[in-house]
Amino acid sequence: MTARRDEILKELGLTPVWRLRTPSAAPAEVPASGSADDPPALRNPVVAQSQAREPEAIRGLPKVVPLDARATGIAQLEWPQLKESVAACVACPLHAERNKTVFGVGDEAAEWLFVGEGPGAEEDEKGEPFVGQAGKLLDNMLAAINLKRGKNVYIANIVKCRPPGNRNPETAEAARCEPYLHRQIALIKPKLIVALGKVAAVNLLKRDAPVASMRGKLHAYQGIPLIVTYHPAYLLRSLPEKAKAWADLCFAVETMHGLQSGKAAPI
Ligand code: URA
Repeated sequence: MTARRDEILKELGLTPVWRLRTPSAAPAEVPASGSADDPPALRNPVVAQSQAREPEAIRGLPKVVPLDARATGIAQLEWPQLKESVAACVACPLHAERNKTVFGVGDEAAEWLFVGEGPGAEEDEKGEPFVGQAGKLLDNMLAAINLKRGKNVYIANIVKCRPPGNRNPETAEAARCEPYLHRQIALIKPKLIVALGKVAAVNLLKRDAPVASMRGKLHAYQGIPLIVTYHPAYLLRSLPEKAKAWADLCFAVETMHGLQSGKAAPI
């Protein structure tokens, strides 16, 4: 173990438990649970209040856009238009109090995608996900498995605007934002998604269950393998769960090695 890894693990308070095992293929007996292939929950109409800065693909749509038409438009956007569309989005009430939208950050061809819940105060100020205390822990978690923000890693959230008071995003807010994340995932084509916390897991898997029951299993979002672990902010408050999060990261690394070598169990 390198001195840097030692430092990281010490900071996490996890030595000697947080030790990366020798990479191996994902175990074939990993229980595959839940197909996450449900189509996005896109039934309600949405009022597109301002389309002034919306990109071409959705600019021409009528003022009251059925949500599935909006989603279809978003699903055709390339990165620059997608970014513009998010920056101009007024599709849910969260836009009213935001300072900055938080689009997501990282390698746009990453094999790893980490999905959190939504921006907090610092993210709302900076326009970048996971820059506060939870972000520092996430960076340390990434470093512990030899990953780095921006290098083969993309980080995004379920919602792109800060829910006031750091409350959880409401179902309708998450549904309005879903086409954006969905398109990001389609463009990135990650090999593996790691859902950070219950809000991310429930919204991606369309299944309401505690993290404790979702972790340790291989799930899928639209055919992409997905692993659930605890949210870094929760880990900051719940030290005993850190060892479980480390086990989840080791599972993710094993799964990724299996996917990279083409030996992963079918989902
Ligand atoms: N928590 C999240 O879920 N996402 C962020 O970007 C920051 C904190």
